[in-house]
Amino acid sequence: MERNYINVMEELVESLVTFLLFSPDFQLFCKCQKCRTDIVAYSLNNLPHHYVTTEEGRKDIFDHLNSEVNRKWINKRIISAIYLVGQYPKHS
Ligand SMILES: [Zn+2]
Repeated sequence: MERNYINVMEELVESLVTFLLFSPDFQLFCKCQKCRTDIVAYSLNNLPHHYVTTEEGRKDIFDHLNSEVNRKWINKRIISAIYLVGQYPKHS
C-alpha cells in the first residue's frame, strides 16, 4: 500500500526540536543526530498524533497546531524530552 498519510505532529515536532535545541536556553545540551532523534521520538510518544491524507489538510492542521496556545503545551513536552535525553544520552 502506498503511504498517503502523514502525521502532522511529527513535522511540527521535528522543527520545534531543532529550534529549541539551538536556542540559548539549551546551548549546553548535545545536538548530535542520535540525541535529536531520541528527543523527537520521546516527544512524539507523549503527544497526540494528527494524521492527514491531503495537502490541504496538512496545511490546516499544521497552522492549527502551530498556534501560540498549542505550541505552549507541545513545547512543554519537548522540553521534558530534551532534559530526559540530556540526562540519559544514548550516543556513543
Ligand atoms: Zn548526543
